[in-house]
Amino acid sequence: MSLIIEVPFAEKDEAKSLGAKWNPELKKWYVEERQNYYKFEKWILGNKEKTHILCDYFYIVEGTHICFKCNKPTTVIGFGVQKFFEVYDSNEYGKKDNFYFVDDDIHIASHIEPLPKDFLDILKEKYNYYESYSKTANESYLVNHCSNCKVIQGDFFLFQEVDTPFFIDSIEKAKQLKLYKIPLKNDLIVNLDIGWGSNDYIIDEYAQKFNF
Ligand SMILES: [Zn+2]
Repeated sequence: MSLIIEVPFAEKDEAKSLGAKWNPELKKWYVEERQNYYKFEKWILGNKEKTHILCDYFYIVEGTHICFKCNKPTTVIGFGVQKFFEVYDSNEYGKKDNFYFVDDDIHIASHIEPLPKDFLDILKEKYNYYESYSKTANESYLVNHCSNCKVIQGDFFLFQEVDTPFFIDSIEKAKQLKLYKIPLKNDLIVNLDIGWGSNDYIIDEYAQKFNF
């Protein structure tokens, strides 16, 4: 496993001196060892206050939801994350401590961004998950759509409300989730919106698991 980082040309010597390696095929710098990621905070975090590094794999979490518009059941997706770094600003959290490694329960994220284009094409084709304009947010974002009537199944209703497939409060609900494991060739710097549910520990044990 390794992590590809975006290093501006002017900073290449600095990255190299910290131990970054050059991949001539991709024409990108990368970091080999997870315990060294923290040395590259500058390029991993950039100007952001917080980011994440997904490690090894993640899941597509498939659930069934009744469309508020046509009242028919439709398949909706979120993402399952289990093994990742939360990365914060070292000025606030201290060097090394600002890279917090999580590896226990599966938590459900409403978003992982960015995702590769070919993968997004599959999500659109298979799940009606694609970019739509939101009047409330005044921007386009990736969102679930009803498989029958194509109406947006908004994030708030899917991920914040109690009566949704992703709100796990019983073993029965966990059993209805289908998890498709997506292996990663490299660790991935992404933005995640994670819902931390107090019953998330039952997802790993009771959800149905498949390979994608
Ligand atoms: Zn519908």
